[in-house]
Amino acid sequence: MIISVASGKGGTGKTLVTTNMAASIGGVELVDCDVEEPNSYLFFPNRDEEASSDCTVTIPLIYEDKCTRCGRCSEFCAYNALAVFPKQVLLFKELCHGCGGCALVCPEGAISEGTRSIGKIHMAASGDVRLLWGELSLGEPMATPLIRSVKAEAKGDLVLIDSPPGTACPVIEAVRGSDFCLLVTEPTPFGLYDLSIAVQVVREMKIPCGVVVNRGGVGDQGVYNYCAKEDIPILLEIPMKRKIAELTSRGVLFSEVITEWQQKFVDLIGKIEEEIK
Ligand code: SF4
Ligand code: SF4
Repeated sequence: MIISVASGKGGTGKTLVTTNMAASIGGVELVDCDVEEPNSYLFFPNRDEEASSDCTVTIPLIYEDKCTRCGRCSEFCAYNALAVFPKQVLLFKELCHGCGGCALVCPEGAISEGTRSIGKIHMAASGDVRLLWGELSLGEPMATPLIRSVKAEAKGDLVLIDSPPGTACPVIEAVRGSDFCLLVTEPTPFGLYDLSIAVQVVREMKIPCGVVVNRGGVGDQGVYNYCAKEDIPILLEIPMKRKIAELTSRGVLFSEVITEWQQKFVDLIGKIEEEIK
């Protein structure tokens, strides 16, 4: 079973939910797909690092001696990653999506396939929780190939995916293929606005969803009314408590200190299984 945890915006408590759920139920793989700012692993200080590897994407390699400057490659490239000048063909690596089309259309066979690294994939273990996370290189704009690669390393029976914030391409890639998507929100007008967009996205992807309300007790009834109207189950509510906020800000899993929460996260998985049936 693959459960993704997402939210329409950052700072709603996605990582709080994913990490505490993973630690409480055990025997899971926690995949942090927030590759621009992975931080799930920091909640598991006693982890044993297993391995790190480069994530590479393909890029064209131009053989200038064979090139006749015909310009077909740059005309073909939909991403404007190639520019043909009288003495050189320039590749803008960050724009290249590695489709390989330029090599196919080159009449001189002057383009072959090379690779470049866009980030790292890390693996570690903490007790019976396996941790996987991607780390995008600084300034690198293409997060989705790294997200795809780090997800491909998860092979367990139960996989929890910590998605990036927002509702753009990286989130779609992180959530794609999930059996269920848990949407974390806060009960405020801002939370409601972002939740409603996230719901549209997962519904479009035909992924069943449920809500976790974080910082319950603040704000208004908007999120609750919306969920009732849209028939979206609220599966867990985490109250706004100073103790929870303090522990989390120190990188401590609050469920390991306020231990009654462990059963609540175990129950959350049970509720998700019921929803999927
Ligand atoms: S298509 Fe091939 S030959 Fe033509 S400009 Fe590009 S690399 Fe050079
Ligand atoms: S591989 Fe595709 S995206 Fe990259 S330069 Fe060639 S045509 Fe453009």
